[in-house]
Amino acid sequence: MQDSLWQAVLGEIELSVSHASFVTWFKNTRMLRRNDELMVVGVPNVFIKQQLERKYNQLVLDVLKKNGVENIRVEYKINSAISPQRKDNDEPVLMPGRPSGGTKKASSQTTTLTHTYRQGINERYNFDNFIVGSANELAYAACQAIAQNPGTKYNPLFVYGGVGIGKTHLVQAVGNAVVKNNPSARVVYVSTEQFVQEFLDAIRYKKNTDFAGHYRSADVLIIDDIQFIAGKEKTQEEFFHTFNALHQANKQIIISSDKPPREIPTLEERLQSRFAWGMSIDMQNPDFETRCAIIQTKAETHSIVLPADVVEFLSNLVQTNIRELEGALNQLLAFCEMRGLDPEISIAKTLLGGQKTRPKHISAKQIIERTAKHFHIEMDEILGPKRDKDIVVPRQVAMYMLRSELHLSFPKIARELGRKDHTTAIHSVDKIEKESNFDPDLKAAISEIKERLYA
Ligand code: ADP
Ligand code: MG
Repeated sequence: MQDSLWQAVLGEIELSVSHASFVTWFKNTRMLRRNDELMVVGVPNVFIKQQLERKYNQLVLDVLKKNGVENIRVEYKINSAISPQRKDNDEPVLMPGRPSGGTKKASSQTTTLTHTYRQGINERYNFDNFIVGSANELAYAACQAIAQNPGTKYNPLFVYGGVGIGKTHLVQAVGNAVVKNNPSARVVYVSTEQFVQEFLDAIRYKKNTDFAGHYRSADVLIIDDIQFIAGKEKTQEEFFHTFNALHQANKQIIISSDKPPREIPTLEERLQSRFAWGMSIDMQNPDFETRCAIIQTKAETHSIVLPADVVEFLSNLVQTNIRELEGALNQLLAFCEMRGLDPEISIAKTLLGGQKTRPKHISAKQIIERTAKHFHIEMDEILGPKRDKDIVVPRQVAMYMLRSELHLSFPKIARELGRKDHTTAIHSVDKIEKESNFDPDLKAAISEIKERLYA
């Protein structure tokens, strides 16, 4: 049930928060019911529920008040029927291609396929939240041009570049934009691994024609990570025919890869040459400014404004892979959120400092030695049997450091410390992790040991 009041509220909120925040937190909410005292808003998941409760409830109340609704409580309720994968009008994001060329929704014949495609594309990936810099502006421009007029220019489009630099985001943005412009367009997104798997299944279950028809009736076919087709001769042949059928019909083909066609081992010559028919774009690693902009935008979607020094720190910490960059940011935000802290540079450094600057050669022994030294005890004492408090704590810290710095398994940690039972290692790591949040001395000890270790 939609409610015009909630629609009005959303309309105003959209104007007062960033686009990214709106899309992330508000877009997929629904009014479930309301009376004079209580309004229940359905949200897709617990994460969004928490954010709305903690960060946005006041804004919601203010906007309600502006609309003449006062003294009301708003409750956010998880409602799994609300799928963020779907648009407001409940059109599937991806219209499955159907052999008949019809525009009806999936028939039983294609249900399984439909299901998988919808899983494959993510409505979050759009042009609006893609940050453009010198490294990706060409790819961005080409993708936008294609989204406006699929099948007319740059066909196929072949984008390639390293891991985590936004290839999937960009090619899916084309898919989302095409469907937005034309809800009946048959956009098919598939990872190459999935394509290979479906092809094998099709042969095995003798459904080859369904498979071929499905892909060949697409208006836009997006095939991600084509490098995984290497060595798969039969799939290459199938893809060759799909490619030809689509290309001849002026249907758009978009291909992504981690390397240019000529460097994909065992890629058939004829596919290589087909891929070169349209436009090939090399996506570079994002530069410093772009990384900063990405971090700021991502933080904003959590409605957090990061201090400039934290942004720069993160940007320097992770220099190529945006996925890892996001990971570092999320780690920082989660850490601060759980403890009610503001994300400051000192926290970022303590929490993430060691990650990239860590020289490869740091050994377990060095960690234990450094820890012993810090607590003014001998390494032998840490490794020994004594259970005095002034030895047990350093021992636990050493275990914690082995885990956090070297990511050793618990049995391995136990062995490094000369213990047989790895459950002690589990408890120790857990204990130090928890206590360091409350105990500033312990926290300082850990960062000092780290600093010395990497100095
Ligand atoms: P790839 O397919 O190249 O390995 P992805 O498209 O999966 O990389 O990108 C990894 C993550 O980084 C995604 O969450 C994506 O949204 C984000 N990302 C990458 N580049 C950008 C960008 N220019 N602006 C915003 N987010 C980006
Ligand atoms: Mg990808």
